[in-house]
Amino acid sequence: MWAFVLVNLGAVEVLFITSGTGKNSILTVAKFVGLHAALLMMFQMLLVARLPWLDRRIGMDRLTVWHRWTGFTLLWAILTHATLIVLGYATLDNASMGRTFLALAGVPASLLGMIAAATIVAVAAISLRSVRSKLRYETWHALHLLVYLAISVAFVHQLLETTTFKSSTFATVYWWALWILAVGSLVTGRIAVPLWRNARHQFRVQAVVPESDNVASVYVTGRDLDRLPARAGQFFIWRFPGHNHWWLANPFSLSAAPDGRSFRLTAKAVGTASAGLRHVPVGTRVFMEGPYGAFTSLQRTRPGTLLIAGGVGITPIRALLEERSTADVVVLYRVRDESDAVLLDEVRHLIGTNGGRLHLLTGRTKDGARPFEPDSLRALVPDIAERDIYVCGPPAMTSSVLSSLRAIKVPSSQMHAEKFSMA
Ligand SMILES: Cc1cc2nc3c(=O)[nH]c(=O)nc-3n(C[C@H](O)[C@H](O)[C@H](O)COP(=O)(O)OP(=O)(O)OC[C@H]3O[C@@H](n4cnc5c(N)ncnc54)[C@H](O)[C@@H]3O)c2cc1C
Repeated sequence: MWAFVLVNLGAVEVLFITSGTGKNSILTVAKFVGLHAALLMMFQMLLVARLPWLDRRIGMDRLTVWHRWTGFTLLWAILTHATLIVLGYATLDNASMGRTFLALAGVPASLLGMIAAATIVAVAAISLRSVRSKLRYETWHALHLLVYLAISVAFVHQLLETTTFKSSTFATVYWWALWILAVGSLVTGRIAVPLWRNARHQFRVQAVVPESDNVASVYVTGRDLDRLPARAGQFFIWRFPGHNHWWLANPFSLSAAPDGRSFRLTAKAVGTASAGLRHVPVGTRVFMEGPYGAFTSLQRTRPGTLLIAGGVGITPIRALLEERSTADVVVLYRVRDESDAVLLDEVRHLIGTNGGRLHLLTGRTKDGARPFEPDSLRALVPDIAERDIYVCGPPAMTSSVLSSLRAIKVPSSQMHAEKFSMA
């Protein structure tokens, strides 16, 4: 993927150099920044296209973090580009920036650029942590989709405005090919593949099993499930359109290894959608997007495995334990007390049948229980640095385990995490 990025970066530099300079040096720099903003925009689309081959290797959580950083870089690139364009023309015409801005707003191509930039600024503003934390996920997500409007408008702006787009046959073919690749990937990964899979497999709820007062499992069956390339440790984005509003889509990991006959999710009730799962009628149609995630045994590098779960983070860990790609497994399961330990009987059964070790780590952090400090981890699993380590739990727990693993000098290629939060 990085080779692909570098090759395109090289191509854009060549196009910049060969397409000639702007009317003054400020406009030349503006053009340079604008070209790179266009490239960033297309890279953004690839990062969120949910292409199976990219997702299985990198994982949606990491791709989403990159998407966030690329998004803010794109914002600054667009603001810089817009400011330099106004400054460049103001210098050229010996006019004020305000007057130049208004004059440019009267030119359709520039106006489209301004609309795209303003939309991107608005989308970035709602993605600031302080703003986003005050919005419902669905509200934020719906507003975030405005970015597609910005991209479409920016595309027309480029077609009308840039000389680089049309500076040679190669330039025209190159830009069109890049846009077709980016938009095509997005449409394939986000729309065509999910629609095709749901039409083919016809997912339906097979059974709903309460696991405790606030946790329930949902079994989903369908046609030819053995043909769906899902692995233990992965997750789907689930919709129950007959039961919930169609726009409610929630990510849940598979809590059992896929067996070709059914899939199972196990969810803790934290909000409307997750709490309502225990009331989903059997036979309800399910719309599933996925499978997603790189939290699988494909990432294994060592013979020994350590699986670490916190609370409901046991779901993908239990699936990995069932898949059992290695005999040498240790499980650390962190809960407040034993009655909170979801799927504990199943985990014990799997360890009893196939071997391995389970440590149930109970207690509250505020009462001094700190099993994930480097020394505690080393005492529990002396050969920890020799193992692949899979961690899944609340974001704070996962981050603290990862920092302890770094302190113990576990190579990063052996650490695999799923955070149960997207970015
Ligand atoms: C990769 C992944 C795997 C997960 N696996 C499990 C699991 O196996 N079992 C389990 O109990 N929980 C799991 N979760 C957490 C689960 O997705 C949330 O608890 C659930 O979506 C909450 O939805 P709600 O409508 O009930 O609650 P709300 O109160 O509406 O949402 C609570 C929070 O959940 C998050 N959330 C809601 N919808 C989404 C969405 N579509 N995408 C991303 N985040 C969202 C948001 O941060 C939101 O603020 C997983 C999360 C992720 C990212």
